Amino acid sequence: KAKENGKNQYRFFDAEIEQASDEMQQTRIELKKAITEQEFRLLFQPKVDAVTRLVHGAEALLRWQHPTRGLLSPTHFIEAAERFGMIEEINAWVISQTCSTISQARDRGIDLSISVNLSNQQFRNKNLDAHIQSILEQHQVEARNLILEVSETTAIHHQAQFKETLRHFKKQGLKISLDDFGLHPFSLTHLQDLEISEVKLDRSLTKGVAASKTSLSIVEAIVKLAHALDLNVVAEGVEDEDQRQALVSINCDQMQGYLFSKPVEQKFLFDVFSELQLRSTTKSLF
Ligand code: C2E
Ligand code: MG
Ligand code: MG
Ligand code: MG
Repeated sequence: KAKENGKNQYRFFDAEIEQASDEMQQTRIELKKAITEQEFRLLFQPKVDAVTRLVHGAEALLRWQHPTRGLLSPTHFIEAAERFGMIEEINAWVISQTCSTISQARDRGIDLSISVNLSNQQFRNKNLDAHIQSILEQHQVEARNLILEVSETTAIHHQAQFKETLRHFKKQGLKISLDDFGLHPFSLTHLQDLEISEVKLDRSLTKGVAASKTSLSIVEAIVKLAHALDLNVVAEGVEDEDQRQALVSINCDQMQGYLFSKPVEQKFLFDVFSELQLRSTTKSLF
């Protein structure tokens, strides 16, 4: 009897694995089509000054307009794209679109810096710096207007190549931002030997600052350390005024979050830009 059960179980897992690989196969086909049929969209979330609320720049955030599943966030497909070796092509498109947006902003008299998120995998490519350089040149965009966000996880897993690539980026005049900062013990110790100019406090840190004194103290220590190392500090996921004020009280430099704006399409970015600019000006008058 036990043996029989075992056999059934084995069959069950077998079927599950088969189904999973079918799904993977399906995802692979759909992602390929997404690239050729241009189903990707890029949204932009404004990054504002913590105190004045003036817009400093924006972060480009990828979306997949899936034919049946709707608008998908990268959490639903980035891992698969990495596994199937498609991330480079997708991110090349992201960087290219971003540079095009920077250049269109410039045509409207707006000096806009935009951040893009790099994937861990891209650091395996030794020509990443040259590749980005060629996209910049193609759009006649200055390196100082493009910020590259890399996650802490990348820094941990690709130490040697990572440091080398960051050095090249710095030489090119590109700015590096350490994304999702504060999630790992890594955070503080390795800051000093990486060529970065900014840290982005992970949303999980922002969450607690208004409600808990302890959380605020921890974040305050991080901000102090970052400032001592001459790094710009951006808080992610700021959703309410209490959080903003708490973060201002510990000298956080800039913020992103639903309190200011959700990620918006390019055509709205320039509007949001002037609107937030206007609102903050009006505010400071009273
Ligand atoms: P991230 O770089 O840490 O981006 C911040 C995420 O927080 C974004 O999710 C953004 O929409 C969301 N967010 C912003 N403000 C708020 C807020 O006030 N409240 C809440 N609850 N969420 C907020 P999104 O767009 O789904 O992106 C998820 C992650 O996917 C990003 O995290 C980034 O690591 C990755 N990603 C985004 N775009 C790209 C891309 O072009 N290439 C690659 N390789 N990864 C990307
Ligand atoms: Mg990011
Ligand atoms: Mg982040
Ligand atoms: Mg995050």
